[in-house]
Amino acid sequence: MNAYVYGYGAEGKERLIVVDLGVTFPDMDGSPGVDLIMADAGWLEENVDRIEAVFITHAHEDHIGALPHLWPRLKKPIYARRFTAKIGALKLEEAGIASDQIHVVEPRPQVIEAGPFKVQFVPVSHSIPESSALVIDTPAGRVVHTGDFKLDGNPIVGEAFDPMLWHQIAKEGEGVKVLVCDSTNVFSHQPGRSEATLAAPLTELIAAQEGMIVATTFASNVARLKTLAEAGRAAGRSICLLGRAMKKMVTAAEETGVLKGFPGTIPAEQAVEIPRNNLMLIVTGSQGERRAASAQLSRGKYLGLEMKEGDTFLFSSKTIPGNERGVIRIMNAFSEMGVDVVDDHGGKYHTSGHANRPDLEAVHDLLRPKMLVPMHGEHRHLREHAKIAMSKGIASEVATNGTMLDLTGDAPKVVEYIEAGRTYLDGSVLIGALDGVVRDRIRMALNGHVLITVIIDEDDVPLGDAWVELMGLPETGKRGVPLADQIEDELAEFLERAPDKVLANDSKMDEAIRRIARQVSMEEIGKKPEVTVVVSRLLAE
Ligand SMILES: [Zn+2]
Repeated sequence: MNAYVYGYGAEGKERLIVVDLGVTFPDMDGSPGVDLIMADAGWLEENVDRIEAVFITHAHEDHIGALPHLWPRLKKPIYARRFTAKIGALKLEEAGIASDQIHVVEPRPQVIEAGPFKVQFVPVSHSIPESSALVIDTPAGRVVHTGDFKLDGNPIVGEAFDPMLWHQIAKEGEGVKVLVCDSTNVFSHQPGRSEATLAAPLTELIAAQEGMIVATTFASNVARLKTLAEAGRAAGRSICLLGRAMKKMVTAAEETGVLKGFPGTIPAEQAVEIPRNNLMLIVTGSQGERRAASAQLSRGKYLGLEMKEGDTFLFSSKTIPGNERGVIRIMNAFSEMGVDVVDDHGGKYHTSGHANRPDLEAVHDLLRPKMLVPMHGEHRHLREHAKIAMSKGIASEVATNGTMLDLTGDAPKVVEYIEAGRTYLDGSVLIGALDGVVRDRIRMALNGHVLITVIIDEDDVPLGDAWVELMGLPETGKRGVPLADQIEDELAEFLERAPDKVLANDSKMDEAIRRIARQVSMEEIGKKPEVTVVVSRLLAE
């Protein structure tokens, strides 16, 4: 859920630019029922008059996904390259926002002036078309914000890594003052591999299969989709793309001219007519997402297509930590069908979109920055990257979420911590991660829920018995008698004996009834459920 802010100017009055507005994804443990997670834009909203523009480096969800949700609170011009702008525009349109807010930028030498900033987009190779680093010039010096990148001399789709271009950027003016640099693969010690190295092994693998082949990868990895489709065509197979996100990406890439020569594809209705050994499906859901095409196929028929014994399912992808359970569930489901599941084979059928450690060091050496601020990665990645920089005499600082660094001196200096939590998209509403909504939801999920209704008449006398309803709890426990009945019995005794001053006081009633319900539940079923008490009072005429 990337969201970087650069500022320049007098203290507290700096003009600001925002780089990337991304999302991350919820999980059942920490954020059940939540749809998306993004940075808390509270500080940006408070300082909205100081923001000049928003720049988006590339169209991965963790860099662009929050645009339709947070942009309405900022309403500043958005700058991105053509393909990224197209994906951003689709997102805004889906949210009912006019997409003319996005300005298409050509790569360097075009310069966008935004207040005191002069910004250039520099093509980098990554795992999505038209990824860009930003060269941000300020009166205090030059910042290079790499975005996600790898060093790939032949990325299949999009521009190759161009060392001369980077050399030029390092040479101009006073050189690079600050490198804000991707750290995702800092623990990978081998040099990264080019996307082009996958074509031969994938072609060989696919040619050797006899049944239907289904391959999955990230929908946005357009280069991989092309390599897979070409490998399928080479084996005489018709190609069918399944999954909305994948079709959207390929269409956007073709429309914006970044993807050319993608093999012709057939729709699912036509694919069902084709003999299995002449068919290849390329599907969404490489991370085990429950609603994606791969999960649908693992549960049975999907759009008339079905996996069978002798078919092959290929993960041309890496499982992102945290998604293992979903992926393994799918692998086992296919296994039960007699389908051969092939994973990335230690990198034979997949290569990362991020620079490995030797490549990061090559960039340090190429740009020779005075300071390095590690970004993208967990804390352990950032810390390792900072250590590498410092061992080479480059001043560095780990900036965790909310950290404000002063970059005008000789070393990054922490000057402030800004309140920077998380915002959840919950259904159609944005809520704060600490608002209590999800905390209550987790409690109900873990403990179950008891609803108790009591009616009190005009004279503060209970009218009939308390009424108990359970949700998410076993009906009976230790004694084999319905739990609801037992709570009702205990409450009947309580209401009979309760002093007038308790019966007349809502909060005392609430507290006493809640305590009784939890006590009875604890004895009977060994759990203390969440309890909602409703005291209805009849009013005197
Ligand atoms: Zn990315």
